Amino acid sequence: MLDAFQQSPHQLVEFITAVAAREDGVSAAQAAAELASEEFDAEVGAVIVGDRLEAAVGFGSAPPPAEALCAIRPGLGVADLRGVGIAHVAAAGWDDAPPGRLVVARLDRGFAPEEHILLLGMARGLGLTLRTIEALETERRLRAEHQRQAEELAERQRLLEILLDIQRSISHRKPLREILDAITAGAATLLGVQRVSLVLDDALDPGRPIVARTNSPAGGSAPAGDALVASVHVNGRPAGALVAAPPEGGEFDPADAELLTAFAEHASLALTDAQTLQAMQEAFHDELTGLPNRALFVGRLEQALEAPRAGEREVAVLFVDLDRFKAVNDSIGHAAGDELLRAVAGRILGCLRTGDTAARFGGDEFAVLLEGARSAASAERVADRVIEAVRRPFQIAGKTVLVGASIGIAYGDDGVEGADELLRNADLAMYQAKRDGRGRRATFVPAMLTAVLERVELETALQTAVARGELSVVYQPLVALEDGRPTGVEALLRWTHPTLGTVAPSTFVPIAEDIGAIGEIGRWALDEACARAAAARRRRPWLRMAVNVSAHQVRDPEFPVQVEAVLDRHGLPGDALTLELTETMLVDEHGDALAQMERLKALGVSIALDDFGTGYSALRYLQQFPVDELKIDRSFVAQIGDDPDEGDDAVVRTIVELGRVMGMHTIAEGIETPAQAQRLQALGCRFGQGFLFAAPMPADRLEAWLEQAAPVCRAA
Ligand code: C2E
Ligand code: MG
Ligand code: MG
Repeated sequence: MLDAFQQSPHQLVEFITAVAAREDGVSAAQAAAELASEEFDAEVGAVIVGDRLEAAVGFGSAPPPAEALCAIRPGLGVADLRGVGIAHVAAAGWDDAPPGRLVVARLDRGFAPEEHILLLGMARGLGLTLRTIEALETERRLRAEHQRQAEELAERQRLLEILLDIQRSISHRKPLREILDAITAGAATLLGVQRVSLVLDDALDPGRPIVARTNSPAGGSAPAGDALVASVHVNGRPAGALVAAPPEGGEFDPADAELLTAFAEHASLALTDAQTLQAMQEAFHDELTGLPNRALFVGRLEQALEAPRAGEREVAVLFVDLDRFKAVNDSIGHAAGDELLRAVAGRILGCLRTGDTAARFGGDEFAVLLEGARSAASAERVADRVIEAVRRPFQIAGKTVLVGASIGIAYGDDGVEGADELLRNADLAMYQAKRDGRGRRATFVPAMLTAVLERVELETALQTAVARGELSVVYQPLVALEDGRPTGVEALLRWTHPTLGTVAPSTFVPIAEDIGAIGEIGRWALDEACARAAAARRRRPWLRMAVNVSAHQVRDPEFPVQVEAVLDRHGLPGDALTLELTETMLVDEHGDALAQMERLKALGVSIALDDFGTGYSALRYLQQFPVDELKIDRSFVAQIGDDPDEGDDAVVRTIVELGRVMGMHTIAEGIETPAQAQRLQALGCRFGQGFLFAAPMPADRLEAWLEQAAPVCRAA
């Protein structure tokens, strides 16, 4: 051996270096066969490992059978090789595992002993290389195996931890929702899928599923492929299934089925527990009416939206809110109120078909889910049926009770992202129905959302309107109808929004009330109007200023103190000011209102009831409150018309008569024609206001108007 290395170190080193550079046994053998045949100028080179021909070069189209080559023993000799002919062969073997031989065959001459020694060196080198490669491969394989085992172990540990956690939750009687959530979320994590749902039969509504939990919000469509299903049992009977959506771009492997089954078994365990089973019913149903609750409704809605044809108005949601329920509930008592809600639930169900879902969301809010092709055409008909059904009188605790229903309808069109958005749309439509006058339905259109957004914008801007100086006050004269001479002016707020322009008080005052900004705005308006009154009264001391105040302001215990402070600041006597309130003020919380008004009266200010006749004031309230003036709403003045024979002055006549009996002035609003003024005067109304005399005007024009209408010398 040593000789071989000494004799031909150069070729041998080259050979071993080239062979050892190969990554795996086969290509090392192939390189060895090629290099050896080249080195010895041989027609054939081959490597046999064990009893197998590992590599061969130099044969023509028909290589000799592997057995022929494998039969060649180490040494020198002659052999008949098919495809080559009779050839001189030299073979050198090695014994290391795996044992083998390097064979070369030459046609023209035999092999010299030195050549055989070199071949022996090469064979020995190849054997070493093959052994090293084999060892490396084994090592690599072992390491991979090891890693796989470690990963499997970690995965198993994770699974056990999650399952243990779930078991703990079950035995600690954690809320069922939490347990089911842990089961679906745990299964989804370990399976590496987006969604796992627990679908259960609803014992209260056989045939309809409860989608107990899905771990990701609905909306996005699940990847294509088959879902994995494991059945869930309650008390040994099939009760539903745990369903895993297919993983992103792939299929489940058999181990996944086992895993899901483990989770399904835990779900069965949790549900079989008698207490949790009942808890599940409670968790997904409204206690009072037995209807599905919001959670169950949303689950079913999500499922409906995921159905293949959900995009074509197949899914409709009705949002039902009762009208006047609060008032009725307050007047008949809460037990009777509950009975009423149960009766309403029954009537709503009576309007539906099997397959539709009615739910109670709480309070007097109900929702209906309509699924299937017929919903688009019939959602409106169903809504009408519900409205009619709820409108019929209820007999509750021996009393006849009347309520109504306002309904918003929204469809699961393509644009709808998910259950939440659809419900919000139906809710918005319901508010529109309320605004349209209650007891009716409205169907969602995107403009409703825009309106809400605009409102939010207005709310934001209104918060800073006073500080930014965007508010102003205009003044409209009040006159004596007898001769048209002014007796006072009414202050009317204006808001100039930087981009929207002028916003009417009928728009922004209610918003200011809602967001709690009316206090600041009202104080500003009162101060502004009193400053103007003080200035005008220097020349016309008889002039009175009327200022509108919102019920929210009057309810503030500080309000009388604020009014007193403003009067003081501008040096005005109390009788220079009239506060205009609305009738609703008297009906809402009239106990406090009465005390407040008496404190205001003590300052000497007058109280007028604005828009009189449009509210709900009962005569008994009117009698109780210290009211000085009734302002007849302009809608009644408008009914008078131009023609004395055709107009309808019944309401005006009644209010004037009422004022006379109660000792109150009557002031007619919105007088636009001389005929109206004459008729009002004939009916005994002495004061008026309207475009006929003057439209509201900015402060800087008021003085000029007063001057032409009532020169100081005449009025004084
Ligand atoms: P209001 O107190 O009943 O005011 C009378 C409304 O009728 C004013 O509308 C006025 O411009 C309008 N008007 C006057 N004469 C005529 C007429 O001949 N024909 C017609 N068609 N309309 C006439 P404006 O200024 O838009 O105010 C609307 C309401 O906003 C007021 O009704 C009042 O309730 C409220 N408001 C105005 N300023 C304030 C305020 O400072 N505070 C509070 N809380 N509310 C205010
Ligand atoms: Mg007014
Ligand atoms: Mg009015």
